[in-house]
Amino acid sequence: MAEETLSFIDEVRRRRTFAIISHPDAGKTTLTEKLLLYGGAIRLAGSVKSRRAQNHAVSDWMEIEKQRGISVTSSVLQFDYNGYCINILDTPGHQDFSEDTYRTLMAADSAVMVIDCSKGVEDQTKKLFHVCKMRGIPIFTFINKLDRAGKDPFELLEDIENVLGIRSYPMNWPIGTDRNFKGVFNRQKKQIELFKDGNHGQSVAEAIVGDIFDEQFRGLLGEDLHEQLINDISLLDMAGDGFNLEQILNGELTPVFFGSALTNFGVEPFLESFLNITTPPTPRLSNLGEINPETDNFSGFIFKIQANMNPTHRDRIAFLRICSGKFEKGMTVNHVQENKKVRLAQPQQFLAQERVVVETAYPGDIIGIHDPGIFKIGDTLCQDQSKLQYEGIPLFAPEHFAKIYTKNALKRKQFIKGITQLAEEGTIQVYKRPDIGVEELIVGVVGALQFEVLEYRLKNEYGVDIIMQNLPYRYIRWVEMDNFDPKTFSITMDTMIVEDEDGHPVLLFQNEWSISQVKDRNKNAVLKEISLRK
Ligand code: GDP
Repeated sequence: MAEETLSFIDEVRRRRTFAIISHPDAGKTTLTEKLLLYGGAIRLAGSVKSRRAQNHAVSDWMEIEKQRGISVTSSVLQFDYNGYCINILDTPGHQDFSEDTYRTLMAADSAVMVIDCSKGVEDQTKKLFHVCKMRGIPIFTFINKLDRAGKDPFELLEDIENVLGIRSYPMNWPIGTDRNFKGVFNRQKKQIELFKDGNHGQSVAEAIVGDIFDEQFRGLLGEDLHEQLINDISLLDMAGDGFNLEQILNGELTPVFFGSALTNFGVEPFLESFLNITTPPTPRLSNLGEINPETDNFSGFIFKIQANMNPTHRDRIAFLRICSGKFEKGMTVNHVQENKKVRLAQPQQFLAQERVVVETAYPGDIIGIHDPGIFKIGDTLCQDQSKLQYEGIPLFAPEHFAKIYTKNALKRKQFIKGITQLAEEGTIQVYKRPDIGVEELIVGVVGALQFEVLEYRLKNEYGVDIIMQNLPYRYIRWVEMDNFDPKTFSITMDTMIVEDEDGHPVLLFQNEWSISQVKDRNKNAVLKEISLRK
């Protein structure tokens, strides 16, 4: 449809590529499903979950997925809404939380943070938030489950500001909570929006809309609630931060929406307002300066590699975020890091859960490219400039560590090959002790499930049985300092010094106390939670 009528520039500008971040159970899946519902991509809500349960064959590339009934790898959903072309990047979150979850955020242009109104900001949200903050992308907040008893809305805003250190601007304000949640006051349009629940959130919610002083609302809400709303709003107008688009786009101010994904209350106003405020693809930093998405030269970077989606093949799929120019099926591009040409013959795209072969794609889109084992995370592909390289994808802090050995010393070669490949795909990070070397490898993972993935894949793909011994470390810091010497660097008894795959010095800690001790004792060293790859 859009193909004939829209220019390349129009296609770029209508793209909205974002990730939804949250702590498990805050309502990310439900909200995603409702966005698909409003986008017309699914007819009745409830299908995302049931699809997950019934249709495993599509995504199950591994036994672990089948056994656990979860998806180990994340995907992308694309659909149209009101002229926008929306790409939602799924960030895996339950047991399948992994470094991919962080890496996915590198491909997003903005983030939606879902918070459960009874819990406030939770641990996993905090971690994901910090990655978004580091990138300076706009972060929108959807406070969910207003149909249930929760914290006071003012308290929730305070929580966001105190725990995350970001200012907030409520875009709407809830009217009543718990079973008495009736709707919101839209601060931009200065109107009350009361929702009617038709069929338990299965289809879009209808709303009664009008001015706050409209007499009908006194009756609909009751005197007390109406009065409280008027007071709350005037308090917000007086005491709160003002709406500042520039700060929002720089990730310094988060627009906050209240709603209930389950009943659809507040979902549509959120979607419209979010799409309107958030940014289309913006210029990305490279070694050649900022690259404008609207330039002709096709370019993009690989942010994720997924192995064996089809268990009968060994192939991998590399996920490429398009940053500039138009992609056309069959085009030949430069693979910058390897200094080679590659033809993109059968790339895939992910339209509201279906995987299809893509003919054309634009900046902001994600395509999956067949990878015979040539790509690495962070690689750049581009049409013309063979030297263009996008900023690398950093290494994010693992939280689980283990020593690994092969059971059978004769399999050492395959063992190293498998470990190297899995590290390249970004499933694990590998460290060595400077005094011991490759005889004893330490692996780190962001989510503990990756250990199972590692064990399973080494056995099934490389025929190697391993012995894994969990280590008590929970925190990692990359050391930045001149002339680092492991022999003289002062650490606590329970801290270990290792080096990463680039030979960069790394510290493994068991607790935060040790981190602060080591910082105190080594004033000239900077300890980093995220490291840029070489
Ligand atoms: P995720 O883990 O963040 O993807 O969370 P889900 O979307 O799977 O939701 C977790 C649970 O919260 C499920 O039982 C949902 O039905 C429920 N839930 C999600 N949104 C709402 C909401 O707005 N109100 C209420 N009461 N429950 C919700």
